[in-house]
Amino acid sequence: MKISCEKATELCTRSQYEEATWWQVIKLKLHLFYCKSCSKFSAKNSKFTTLCEQANMHVITENEKEAMKEQLRKQL
Ligand SMILES: [Zn+2]
Repeated sequence: MKISCEKATELCTRSQYEEATWWQVIKLKLHLFYCKSCSKFSAKNSKFTTLCEQANMHVITENEKEAMKEQLRKQL
């Protein structure tokens, strides 16, 4: 059930492109709930969780996708 921080980051990216299954999204959210470093990281860079939530809320455009990719690259 537990996933690594690396996996959590990967799932976050995948969920942006709707490539993650609902089960993977649940595992990601659970990870953010119990993992202090990732929740600290997401609090510090609130974009991390915002990006995940945005991906679930609406279909993103190609331009937004590119911008998100760029942001993630900078954060990693
Ligand atoms: Zn973590």
